[in-house]
Amino acid sequence: MALRMIVGLALTVIAFAVAGRRVWWLWRLAGTGQPAPERLAYARAHLATDIKTQLTEVVGQRKLLKWSVPGAAHALTFWGFIVLLLTIIEAYGDLFSRTFAIPGIGTWPAIGFLEDLFAVAVLAGIITFTVIRVRNAPERQGRASRFLGSHTRAAWLVLGMIFLVIATLLLYRGAQINTGVFPYHHGAFASQIVGHWLHPLGYGANSVLEAVFILAQLGVVLAFLVIVVYSKHLHIALAPINVLFSRRPDALGALEPMRSGGKVLDFEEADPDTDVFGLGKIEDFSWKGMLDMATCTECGRCQSQCPAWATGKPLSPKQVILDLRDHAFAKAPYMLASSDEEREKLPEAVKAEADRPLVGKDGGVLDPDVIWSCTNCGACVEECPVDIEHIDHIDGIRRHQVLIESAFPVEAAGMLKNLENKGDPWGMGSARRGDWISELDFEVPVVSGRIGDDVEYLFWVGCAGALEDRAKKTTKAIATLLHTAGVSFAVLGPAETCTGDPARRIGNEFVFSMLAQQNIETLGEAGVRKIVASCPHCFNTIANEYPQLGGSYEVIHHTQLLARLVSEGRLQPVGRVDEKLTYHDPCFLGRHNRVFTPPREILEQVPGVSATEMHRCRERGFCCGAGGARMWMEERIGKRINTERIEEALALSPDTISTACPFCLVMLGDAVSAKKGSGEAAETLEVVDVAQLLARSVTPEAPDGAKN
Ligand code: SF4
Ligand code: SF4
Repeated sequence: MALRMIVGLALTVIAFAVAGRRVWWLWRLAGTGQPAPERLAYARAHLATDIKTQLTEVVGQRKLLKWSVPGAAHALTFWGFIVLLLTIIEAYGDLFSRTFAIPGIGTWPAIGFLEDLFAVAVLAGIITFTVIRVRNAPERQGRASRFLGSHTRAAWLVLGMIFLVIATLLLYRGAQINTGVFPYHHGAFASQIVGHWLHPLGYGANSVLEAVFILAQLGVVLAFLVIVVYSKHLHIALAPINVLFSRRPDALGALEPMRSGGKVLDFEEADPDTDVFGLGKIEDFSWKGMLDMATCTECGRCQSQCPAWATGKPLSPKQVILDLRDHAFAKAPYMLASSDEEREKLPEAVKAEADRPLVGKDGGVLDPDVIWSCTNCGACVEECPVDIEHIDHIDGIRRHQVLIESAFPVEAAGMLKNLENKGDPWGMGSARRGDWISELDFEVPVVSGRIGDDVEYLFWVGCAGALEDRAKKTTKAIATLLHTAGVSFAVLGPAETCTGDPARRIGNEFVFSMLAQQNIETLGEAGVRKIVASCPHCFNTIANEYPQLGGSYEVIHHTQLLARLVSEGRLQPVGRVDEKLTYHDPCFLGRHNRVFTPPREILEQVPGVSATEMHRCRERGFCCGAGGARMWMEERIGKRINTERIEEALALSPDTISTACPFCLVMLGDAVSAKKGSGEAAETLEVVDVAQLLARSVTPEAPDGAKN
């Protein structure tokens, strides 16, 4: 007994010392990041939400269970390890007394049964993981494998360790049954089976096996502890912390405001020499950003859903996080050094790592094409089981590239200049924003001065809706429907300017804040409270980002309002639209703002429409390629994202592809035109907004301008 105790305790002291050293190092490393007081304040102020989030995301494994088979395997393993904490207590107790039982509950057959049940469940989990890893091995699937780029050897090592944890557990319990010291007389079915196998060896051999496997069990558990803190399995400890300090309800919708030293940057006072302007080096990330890097499980769920990765671009959201993590760890001695003298003495490799630019073609941590390929579609954030905030990191890096380095795709320069000088991305100017109104056969009030009490909604038309020919048809359809339903609305006309979405998403926070403040002032002077927006990007920016600058309104998307008007009977779709169609979810409407149902409700109400879903829909919708200001950048690498999306739609042989976003309308329309040109799509195939389809049914007699 004494030897067993000494060896067990010695192993424990050594393992905790090695693991503790690493934890202290990680803690200090996170401390080199920028402060993020808002995360602490939010977590403190919303304790009830925190508990609910931990219960659903961590204990309930909500996101993981969206992937049924791997999710179930992970849940079994996770829950198994929680239950098996009891067996670790028992193993430690056995170091001191062979007949140890947890006080109060330690002899209940139900506890013995639960422990064995979850031991078997963990075994089932790791067998499933093994099959998944073999079937999805990068060597077999290449780029289609979500594990491509992950540290697969470490993953195999950990699977092996988990197997050893369960094997040694069942072996020592089986031996204990044969030596008569096992605390559970019934219930521990798996241990009893193992005990039955070991029984022929006799009492003496079982006594030895009992001691050996108790120590082996503790040794494996302690080795596992050390491996966890030195590997990607750090997520076992960090996931609950990362989830606790994540943005709520998630990191979709608004982008984080630009912060320096934890404070939101005020451009009137900011100084690029002393303030942090975006993310230019690893130390510019907040501690929460560093926590994200350390928490990544390398599961590759984000990579598997990324439209840029799926179409052959160099961007993988997983790889971005891993590259940043590898760089942070390699640069850590430099960041943790307390003086320049200490830094001078560091190995050359560390100094070289410290000199690496965060973004650069040659030797940069991230290739510029990685950063500029992102459409901000949010698929990565949606999928990530540990709530990593990829878009904030990518756009934070873009901010530094644009504002400090002036390094961004050259073709986007015209868009930024137009936004600054003319208030729209095409530089068409404010005077033409009201042209569509004259194409209608009814009056649309244009706000001048304060909006009247009789006006319920301000219709935010958006740049595309006001100036782009295809999107203008949607604008006219919405106006016609609102007019038909008797909804009082007005527009800003020439007083409306771009919301600033493309500027913010490309990283030019300065132009964004200029445009946003101008719009907030205009809306304030007009006394606007309720806004209906047709463009999901405008909708997202006004609803979620203007509050960061003091502009708060009640904002809805046109599909939400139109669906309500139909359900209230104020719009009656009577005309048949005999078409087979499929609906494309715009990322900034669906994933970013959870508006999935209203467009579908509208389509259900249109007589004759037969709608079929694409494989990638709703939360898993596939981007059109326009978000993240990609609309104004060339797509030179890989397959075009809009082509990939249209091919998915064409597989359903639709007559019409519907959507609810002017950007999607243009991108998908362009891809359809290309397919028509190559004879792969019917000449009659069209891409229309849901509002246009509804208008065709509600006002079948209306002139074409109003219908389309
Ligand atoms: S936001 Fe979309 S495009 Fe960007 S990294 Fe995530 S999944 Fe890829
Ligand atoms: S970022 Fe999230 S989804 Fe992507 S690999 Fe890491 S843990 Fe998985």
